[in-house]
Amino acid sequence: MYPKQVREVNEEYLEFIRQQCCCVCGLSGENLIAPHHVKSRGARGGDTKNTIPLCLNCHNLAHSGHIPKEWQREQAERYYKLYKLGREK
Ligand SMILES: [Zn+2]
Ligand SMILES: [Zn+2]
Repeated sequence: MYPKQVREVNEEYLEFIRQQCCCVCGLSGENLIAPHHVKSRGARGGDTKNTIPLCLNCHNLAHSGHIPKEWQREQAERYYKLYKLGREK
């Protein structure tokens, strides 16, 4: 799903995303949440402000076009704000 060799990977941010609940169904748990890139890396989407936590099931839904992009973008912004707040403490 994700290429091994990628530019501009923000591991710390991806780790933060993995610790969240699935933003569609609320599922949480170790190894159940995978960061989804709203804009694909191929389309030069980065990690921050562009990633949302999705469980494997909802991840499939997102990739088959069942989750509106506009909504995904809003969520990505929201998670980025949460992340920044956490770091300011
Ligand atoms: Zn889910
Ligand atoms: Zn994805």
